[in-house]
Amino acid sequence: MDQKQTLLCEFVNQGRDLIAAAEKTIWENPELGFEEWKTHAYLKAEFEKLGYQVVEAGNIPGFYADIDTGKPGPKVLLTAEMDALLQPTHKHSVGGNAHACGHHAQCAALLGVAYALQQPGALDGLCGSVRLMAVPSEELSSSNMPRRNQMVREGIIRFTQGKVEFMHRGFMDDVDIAMMVHTTLGKDHDFRCDGGCNGIMYKSIVFTPNSPKSNALQAATLAMNGINTLWATFADNPYASMWPRVDLSLKGRSELTVSVSCKELDLQKKISQSIDRVLLGAAAATDTTLELQDNPGCGPLLHPKMLLDLVADVCADIVGSDRVKFRSYWNRGGADMGDVSQVLPAIHLNACGGSCGVHSDNFYIADLDRACLNSAKAQLLTVQRLLENDAQKGKEIIADFATRGTPMAEYLAQRGAISQIRKTELTEEDGALSIVLKA
Ligand SMILES: [Zn+2]
Repeated sequence: MDQKQTLLCEFVNQGRDLIAAAEKTIWENPELGFEEWKTHAYLKAEFEKLGYQVVEAGNIPGFYADIDTGKPGPKVLLTAEMDALLQPTHKHSVGGNAHACGHHAQCAALLGVAYALQQPGALDGLCGSVRLMAVPSEELSSSNMPRRNQMVREGIIRFTQGKVEFMHRGFMDDVDIAMMVHTTLGKDHDFRCDGGCNGIMYKSIVFTPNSPKSNALQAATLAMNGINTLWATFADNPYASMWPRVDLSLKGRSELTVSVSCKELDLQKKISQSIDRVLLGAAAATDTTLELQDNPGCGPLLHPKMLLDLVADVCADIVGSDRVKFRSYWNRGGADMGDVSQVLPAIHLNACGGSCGVHSDNFYIADLDRACLNSAKAQLLTVQRLLENDAQKGKEIIADFATRGTPMAEYLAQRGAISQIRKTELTEEDGALSIVLKA
């Protein structure tokens, strides 16, 4: 490590108490997506104490704060997720919620970065600016999805996940490169990064009977069988999957959710359309009405090689190359950093330090230094690499990405088109019945 890198890491070490307090406070106050008001208030106050001017989302939790070097150059986004999981079985759940995915550690690390960047000399030799962003609502499964779907219907949000919603609100319009560090588990390494991960969309389905003789549970059963059978059609693609589940069947009303997980958005669309036909068939056969809310979820996460290489070097500087595991492994799970990676060069790094697997009932931060301080150091040293020497590296990565990324407006329009609410309509013409889905 050179002198500047050592200095930045030392600033993080100086901020250890601040980071530890944030990790503990947010851990003890787990909140679900778009309900993270306590976390928002706590982080906002801490950022303001450090001298930041915070721009709030307003009607939903979340904010950003910029720090400028005073010299023109790219803007690097460092972001942390605030939401917890609905997981009453977790050992440390509070009101049924728990930070079983370690997002509280991301917030603590971001605060550490905020502290370090305010120290004398931190921005010396850099150009451009850094945007620090606390983002709500990342989780899709084990969360408050019905509430978020309702927020879409009420027009409070356009999208049910925080990063794409913040993109929609223009909070990333002037960002050039983005980074986040998730928490994970690992004994033989301290940092890990995968090649990328799937995009996941959700379909929320309600069947209600049209007559006293029709039965919504039969419609749900038919739909489940149809979707499970449909899976075989796409089984030759190892990266595609669909997971139907019945959420509720009560008083004649049946509710289902289907998640469609894919590496390619085109295939995801094709599977979604096939599921629509199965659902229509189930509604028609059982004389039930189908209400369908499609939720675009998150896009696939794609890591640009140049950015991966740069961050791998940074991680090796911090912990040694033998403690860094960058691999081509493709993760079948989803992350809403995927949306960001479709429009910007972006990286979703993982820092170890969790006690066991994320989303498990025993997850907690076992090692603050590995989970939070290492994360803050990796973010700071990445910013330094990207923005030093007149942002030579940053500009190379931006130019490379420009040849294949999707423009933000185009991507948002594509995602928005998926987000729709439809209902079946039965029509009879010349004795022939037809059933269609209408917005
Ligand atoms: Zn997570």
